[in-house]
Amino acid sequence: MALIHCTACDHRISDMAVACPSCGHPSRPDRRGALNVLGSVAGTYISATTLASLALGVAMFVCTAAVLITLILHSR
Ligand SMILES: [Zn+2]
Repeated sequence: MALIHCTACDHRISDMAVACPSCGHPSRPDRRGALNVLGSVAGTYISATTLASLALGVAMFVCTAAVLITLILHSR
């Protein structure tokens, strides 16, 4: 991970950042994937790593809930 300069305000930002946290200017449009576009739509400083961990957390919650529901239904 390296620091680059924002093209709009010259603030130093991570090269992994979707947008500049200082001015919100989108960074490195060539690196944008589906996850980064999602982060831009949210209009906040959300990196692809954060979104990936968020998705993993939701998936683990759904799996745990499914196991618990199955156990409860089968115990009757
Ligand atoms: Zn900026």
